[in-house]
Amino acid sequence: MRILLKFLFVIVPACALAAPDAAPDRVRGEGPFERLVLRGVTIVNGEGAPPVGPMDVLIKGNTIAEVRSLGLVKPAPEDNRIATEPGDHVMELDGHYLLPGFVDLHAHFGGDAQGVSAEYVTKLWLGHGITSIREPGSGNGLDWVLAHQARSRQNQIAAPRIFPYVVFGQGENGPFLNTEDTRRWVRKIARKGASGIKFFGAPANIMQAAVEEAGKQGLGTAMHHAQLDVVQWNVLHSARAGMTSMEHWYGLPEAMFTDRVIQDYPSGYNYTHEQHRFGEAGRLWAQTAAPGSEKWNQVRDELIALNFTINPTLTIYEASRDLMREMNADWQAEYTPPALWRFFQPSLVSHGSYWYDWTTADEIAWKNNFRIWMQFLNDYKNHGGRVTLGSDAGYIWKLYGFGYIREMELLQEAGFHPLEVLRSATILGAQVLKMDHQLGSVRVGKLADLVITKENPIANFKVLYGTGHFKLGADNEPERVGGVKYTIKDGIVFDARELLSDVRKIVRDAKAEDAGNGAGRPAGQE
Ligand SMILES: [Zn+2]
Repeated sequence: MRILLKFLFVIVPACALAAPDAAPDRVRGEGPFERLVLRGVTIVNGEGAPPVGPMDVLIKGNTIAEVRSLGLVKPAPEDNRIATEPGDHVMELDGHYLLPGFVDLHAHFGGDAQGVSAEYVTKLWLGHGITSIREPGSGNGLDWVLAHQARSRQNQIAAPRIFPYVVFGQGENGPFLNTEDTRRWVRKIARKGASGIKFFGAPANIMQAAVEEAGKQGLGTAMHHAQLDVVQWNVLHSARAGMTSMEHWYGLPEAMFTDRVIQDYPSGYNYTHEQHRFGEAGRLWAQTAAPGSEKWNQVRDELIALNFTINPTLTIYEASRDLMREMNADWQAEYTPPALWRFFQPSLVSHGSYWYDWTTADEIAWKNNFRIWMQFLNDYKNHGGRVTLGSDAGYIWKLYGFGYIREMELLQEAGFHPLEVLRSATILGAQVLKMDHQLGSVRVGKLADLVITKENPIANFKVLYGTGHFKLGADNEPERVGGVKYTIKDGIVFDARELLSDVRKIVRDAKAEDAGNGAGRPAGQE
C-alpha cells in the first residue's frame, strides 16, 4: 500500500524510509528432529477432505514420512500405532487438530511508518499458524526481504517461508516508457531473486509486456488495480494477459459495469483525499452488474477459465463497516505498540487512516458493499474459481496474524464452509506460490509445515486467535480457550504461546520506552 505514493506524488519515496530492525537470530523452536511423532491427532488435510482421526504422524527432519489411522477403539491397538524408537521426539496430542501451515498471500513486513520490528511481525505470523507469506511489495527493499528469506530458509530466524514480490518499477526513478526497458527490468529482478511483481497500474502496452516477461521468467504477478488506471486495465485485461492474482476488490466491479465505464465519482472527489477514496469505494459494488446477471456470470466464468486467483483481503477493509469494533478489538491493548497505534489514528499522512469524519452512512455503505462483494467471492468459489487468503495487516487497525484469522471468519460469512476456508488458506495459497507440490496440505512426502490446535477450528475459527475464544467455563466463570498451540515450520516445533508472549513483551517494552520519552499514552490507548 505505502509504495504507491512513490509513483503518484513522490511525497515520501520508499527507499528514503529506514528499514526496520532485522529479525534476531532464532532462540525459539525445537527441532527439526530425526524422528518426531505426533500421536492421536485429528487431521484436516487442507485439500478439502473432512477431518479424520485419531491418527499418528511421523515426521523425519522436515518431511512428513508416515500417517497412520488408529481406528476408534481406545486405547488404540499398538499394531495400529507408529512404533516409537529410542530418541524419538514424541508429542501426545490426543484430541488435538493437525492442519497444514497457513499461507498469507498479502503480508507486508511492517516498515518505518508502522514503527514495528521484523521480530514483532514474524512472531505474530508464526504464532497464528502462518508458515508461508507472500510479501506483496517488499517496501523495506528487496535486499532486506531477500536477506530475511535466506535466514528463514536456514531456520536462523523464527519466521515463515518468505516469497518476496516487488512493486513494478521499484528502484527505477520513474515509470517505463517502452516495452524493452520494461522487459529488461523484469529480467533484472528475476535474476535478483524476487518471486514476483506487484502492479498498481501502467499503460496497457507496458502492462502487457511486463506480465508476459514475468511469465517467461517464472515470476508470479499480482495486481491492485488502482482507480487511476482501472478504466483502461481492469481484472479482465490482467487475466487475459496471464496475471496470477488480483488483490483486494479493485478492478473487479469495474469489469462488470453495464451502465457506465467510470465509477460514479462525486464532482468534488479527490483521490489523494483518502476519505473520498475509501468512502466512494464503499459505494462501488452497488454500481456493478447484478448478482447472477449475464454480465456478472460472463466475467466470473472468463476469469475462472483463465485460472485467475482472487485474493480479496476482506479483513483490511472491515473497519470501514464498523470502525468502533476494530479500534476496540480484543488484541489492541496487549499487541499494538504505541507507534502502530499512532499510525492507525486519523491522519492526512498515514495511509489507510482515513477516519476524518467517518459517518453512519459510510459504515452502512460498506456493509452493503461487503454483502455484494462476498456474494461474488462465494459464487466464484462455487463455480471452481480460486479464492485465497491475504491479510494486508499493518494498516487500517489490522494486526499481523490476528487480521489473517479474521479473514477466515469473513470468508465463512461470505458463505464458505469452514473446510472451504481452510482449503483456500492452505493448498490454494500454495498453488499461487507454485509450491503445492511441497506445501499446503498434510500429505506424506510434503514439508512439515503444520498447525496444532487443542480446539476444533472448523467448529469455530475464533479458537485460532492469539487472544483465544471467550466463553463460559465449567465453573460458570468466563474463560478464554484456544489460540494455536504449536506451529511447525520446516520440522521445527514452535510453541505459539511462547511466541505471542515474546510479542507482548515487545509491546510492553515499547510502551515503557514511550512513557520514558514522556510521549505519554497515545490517544485511546490509555
Ligand atoms: Zn498491501
